[in-house]
Amino acid sequence: MPAPYAARPEQSRGRRHPEAPHPYRTDYQRDRDRVVHARAFRRLEDKTQVFTRRYSDHFRNRLTHTIEVAQISRTIAAQLGLEVDLVEALALVHDIGHPPFGHAGEKALDAAMRAHGSFFDHNLHALRIVEDFELRYAAFRGLNLTFEVREGIIKHSRDCSRREFPELSEYLLDQRPPLEAQLIDLTDEIAYNTADLDDGYEAHILKLDDIRAGLPVFNRFYEQAEARYPEVREKLKFNEALKAMLDRMVSDLISTACRRIGDAGVKSLADVRACPTRLAAFSDEVETERLQSKSFLHEKLYYSDALRPEKSGAERVVTELFDYWTARPESLPPSYREQTAREPVHRVVCDYIAGMTDSFILRHHQELCGNGGSAAL
Ligand code: MG
Repeated sequence: MPAPYAARPEQSRGRRHPEAPHPYRTDYQRDRDRVVHARAFRRLEDKTQVFTRRYSDHFRNRLTHTIEVAQISRTIAAQLGLEVDLVEALALVHDIGHPPFGHAGEKALDAAMRAHGSFFDHNLHALRIVEDFELRYAAFRGLNLTFEVREGIIKHSRDCSRREFPELSEYLLDQRPPLEAQLIDLTDEIAYNTADLDDGYEAHILKLDDIRAGLPVFNRFYEQAEARYPEVREKLKFNEALKAMLDRMVSDLISTACRRIGDAGVKSLADVRACPTRLAAFSDEVETERLQSKSFLHEKLYYSDALRPEKSGAERVVTELFDYWTARPESLPPSYREQTAREPVHRVVCDYIAGMTDSFILRHHQELCGNGGSAAL
């Protein structure tokens, strides 16, 4: 039974190019299916989340991370009576605009664009992918997704102001997005805050004692696992603690969102949109734990000495190829060369690089710039 404040498909503001309804799939189910069948979605398999394949081939990549976010999001959405298919479509599309090499790649691409007076933002890039770059249909460019999925792509992690992004004014920038979109940034954090502890520990970069000392919530669950399973090996107790941590965040998000919806007197999607603040949130206590996990991972994993060579290698590969193609636009593939007639060269090169997988960009770097920067990748 959907909640009265769910974003029901029959309330959708529709698609840019009107299409006949499908006989047995709702518009949000079709959007989810369109994302799954997109080329950009398949490329997530070969894009770094935190660790490149050099470490292990059983660590998360951006595709398996995306599937974890979708799983967590579906569970929470169902409990809140939200539109599960819309939540799933938004979860599956949420990282589609990420360039190769995770945050190092994004940082390098953004820095390269800033030198040209512009910038790179993965959510805006995701919108360009689904609106323009995916070529699957005879009748239109892009995936022709519903308004709510496109809106969710740009608004899931933050509100965008009209002054900052005048080109996005069609997306009701003075209103909150539906709860289905508000969830995604938080489920993304639940997924990676736990998964990165797991992979960081398996990679022997994070030590159990450091995690226990740095994250009191993890330590509490680890002690419970030790008391309950004194004989099992450390990793199994670690898994129990991590699972309990994930469960705590999920349950807290459900109960806190419920409470805030009740407190705000929200009874419809219009009420969700008109609310001055977002309704999807953690409690103060779990929010403190979330911030602790985030800063712990920043310090001990993302910016650790162990990952530094990969990071600088990734930045160098992206920067050198960006410079190579902006200086030689005639060596871009034909479709991108044509695009330079309509858009500045740096924007075209940025689009080309942002779409690449890790292996594709490494192959091009080796071919065009030599092997120097990619040795650590
Ligand atoms: Mg993500």
